[in-house]
Amino acid sequence: MKYLVLFVVVIVGLMLIKKSQQQRSVPPPKPQARTPQVPEQMLPCAHCGVHVPSSRCVWRDGKPYCSEDHARLGS
Ligand SMILES: [Zn+2]
Repeated sequence: MKYLVLFVVVIVGLMLIKKSQQQRSVPPPKPQARTPQVPEQMLPCAHCGVHVPSSRCVWRDGKPYCSEDHARLGS
């Protein structure tokens, strides 16, 4: 009987420790709402054919160019 009481005390103690650890533990930071990383489309320069990310290419007359110079020179 003595051991049973001791066993219950240990179990209750462990539960309390576990509970306090859960409360103390910092919740994991929520992943920031980042835009999903979509592979950027590569577009060939209309002048030299070098592939440029669509966000970095220079547009002229509806055609992508790798640089302002090539946009000026045209295709
Ligand atoms: Zn070019």
